[in-house]
Amino acid sequence: MIPPSFAYHAPRSIGEALTLLTELGDDAKLLAGGHSLLPMMKLRFAQPGTLIDINRIPELRGIREEGGLIRIGAMSSESDLIASKLLQERLPLLPEAALLIADPQVRNRGTIGGDIAHGDPGNDHPAIAMALDATFVLQGPKGERQVKAVDFFHGTYMTALAENEILTAILVAPFQAGTGYAYQKLKRKTGDWATAGAAVVLRMAGGLVTQVSIGLTNVAPTALRARDAEAALLGKAVNDTTLNAVAQAVRAVCEPAEDLRGDIEYKTAMASEMVKRAIRAAAARCH
Ligand SMILES: Cc1cc2nc3c(=O)[nH]c(=O)nc-3n(C[C@H](O)[C@H](O)[C@H](O)COP(=O)(O)OP(=O)(O)OC[C@H]3O[C@@H](n4cnc5c(N)ncnc54)[C@H](O)[C@@H]3O)c2cc1C
Repeated sequence: MIPPSFAYHAPRSIGEALTLLTELGDDAKLLAGGHSLLPMMKLRFAQPGTLIDINRIPELRGIREEGGLIRIGAMSSESDLIASKLLQERLPLLPEAALLIADPQVRNRGTIGGDIAHGDPGNDHPAIAMALDATFVLQGPKGERQVKAVDFFHGTYMTALAENEILTAILVAPFQAGTGYAYQKLKRKTGDWATAGAAVVLRMAGGLVTQVSIGLTNVAPTALRARDAEAALLGKAVNDTTLNAVAQAVRAVCEPAEDLRGDIEYKTAMASEMVKRAIRAAAARCH
């Protein structure tokens, strides 16, 4: 399938890209890795008159420590995340989870910024960003603002991004020593989106959970932070009784869409199972 024709610009700076976005309005779309946008254009779900290719903007790349946080340029590909020594050492959930996204070809082009900005509840980064309590840096013609991951996703394909804003970076606090983490993703086959997925980050002391965050993938119109499930785990030991209470709280917030991956009941059950597995795996890493 061939997409409709479009004009093409390849700016060299964020400023240049913002000027183009502002001038062209909603007729223009940013092009990152193209692995969500181009399929949508081929299917005529999106028909932008102009693509603004942001691949040649150096400011959008790089993964580094800055002011006590890890700053991940929005144009970092999944392969960049996987290869980053800094992430492997300080935020290992990200490279580990990126390996569960799509296939090597998609991972070489698809970017963390595109995965988040697309606003697809089936994408993995939104829930992972929620579990990491990440902050997104958005730049528009009037300057920069920061939005927490939990506040960014407004609905399926709807986010806090204004038409003339670019997601420039993702900010995350590195893990303290002893932090447990896991991303559990049920998929029908290698390279598939999640039937249900769960990201968990937790800390324990004296056998009890002292801190926990849980993000859910593809079980609602947006990724979810499962606050009630977190509350059911906080201050408790990780055992069957606690995990059953957590699972009940997870099931209560799930509202998945029925599709080829399963019906509502199945996806809801799988979400709670992914959370249980992720909590067990994360707890086993707390030492
Ligand atoms: C076969 C296949 C399997 C896949 N499996 C998975 C999977 O398992 N898990 C998963 O998470 N994803 C999966 N994906 C999606 C893939 O990860 C995409 O790369 C990702 O969703 C979008 O990133 P991109 O860089 O390709 O963005 P693009 O497709 O270029 O852009 C997506 C949207 O975001 C906007 N955008 C992009 N970057 C920015 C920015 N910096 N600021 C503002 N707006 C921006 C674009 O304008 C566009 O609307 C799969 C894709 C394919 C083709």
